[in-house]
Amino acid sequence: MSFNTLGLSDALLRAIDKKGYTTPSPIQEKAIPPILERKDVLASAQTGTGKTAGFTLPLLQILSQGQILRKRPVRALVLTPTRELAAQILENVKAYSEFLDLRSMVIFGGVNDKPQIRGLRNGVDILVATPGRLLDLHNQKALSLSNVEILVLDEADRMLDMGFQRDINKILSLLPKKRQNLLFSATFSKEIKKLANGILHHPVWVEAAPENTTAEKVDQKIYRVDQKRKTELIIKFIAEGNWQQVLVFTRTKHGANRLSEKMSKAGITAAAIHGNKSQGARTKALGGFKKGAIRVLVATDIAARGLDIPLLPHVVNFELPNISEDYVHRIGRTGRAGASGEAISLVSQEELSYVKGIERLLGEKLKSEVIEGFEPTNNVEHNNKPASRNNSHRKPKPKSNTRNYNRRSRR
Ligand code: AMP
Repeated sequence: MSFNTLGLSDALLRAIDKKGYTTPSPIQEKAIPPILERKDVLASAQTGTGKTAGFTLPLLQILSQGQILRKRPVRALVLTPTRELAAQILENVKAYSEFLDLRSMVIFGGVNDKPQIRGLRNGVDILVATPGRLLDLHNQKALSLSNVEILVLDEADRMLDMGFQRDINKILSLLPKKRQNLLFSATFSKEIKKLANGILHHPVWVEAAPENTTAEKVDQKIYRVDQKRKTELIIKFIAEGNWQQVLVFTRTKHGANRLSEKMSKAGITAAAIHGNKSQGARTKALGGFKKGAIRVLVATDIAARGLDIPLLPHVVNFELPNISEDYVHRIGRTGRAGASGEAISLVSQEELSYVKGIERLLGEKLKSEVIEGFEPTNNVEHNNKPASRNNSHRKPKPKSNTRNYNRRSRR
């Protein structure tokens, strides 16, 4: 399958070509045609599936074929939970619309609103926004939403997790009743289904497992080690493996700071990214990491959500998350868009119960090893287990990322 058969215009095909994409990803193949037919779409897709292009390409095509109004009111609104994700979506919109006469911009909180207000005044066809700042600027009469033709709710599950339900409801009340709605979510809880039912009209359901779901492309391994020796071990891995781009997850913001400082002291360039960092600091850290100026980015779950760092070779769980689904999200940062990657977890005695939960979710056992010189001191039984004993694989259950989908809501 090639992009030529999806019904996209030459201007978009040129932009796709410039990006270097040759084949549409499954979600793009499935989502683009019904969106171009102006249908509402409910898509289950995680970051890493190519979902951003999946909604951006047809959205741009629809807008470019429609009438360009003189004042350029917002005609497509993309709502997304985090600032980073919003910035990345705008980057995509800009790249794909390079050969089109369409204006786009992003607004999010945590930064001065004056430049955003000025930008809106000039007129913008596609607005990417986080809910809070959008409402804020709407209250200030800096924008009107009465011409919105297409609404995209990206990472809808995250938006609900982050408490945006009320903001979303308020935003919906500001939009014209007649519009096209696209809702993207990685999981489908009762709340998401309720939200989708309230917004979408006879939606076409499309779903795509991420190309990089656990198992196939991501080599996952756990290393048993005492908590207090984890820093030493991770530095050993990075230094001896000469890893150049590593995303490391910690459970706390404080832990992220501490680890990043210790890495720097050990001569490994590192930066921490979490909710207490200013937007400027986060953007700088992410930029440095993408450019290769920073080898290690230490992040908390919330900060890492939706980060688009293509072809990340190494993800390390310095600590395991206590929510098993977060593990799947974390390791989804590696082996993206077809490339292979490695996800390793440093696991202390206290975290063994999390391993069980994760294995239940994945439907498989994770390979476990102990590095010589780093044997855990408090668990003799595991200590003595050769790695191969833990390698046995049970028959996999259905993939974790599809287990919450309720097929009934396809109707
Ligand atoms: P997303 O799921 O939208 O965050 O996209 C994940 C990554 O895949 C991004 O780095 C995209 O630039 C890349 N990507 C999107 N579509 C394609 C494609 N058709 N072929 C190769 N890479 C793609």
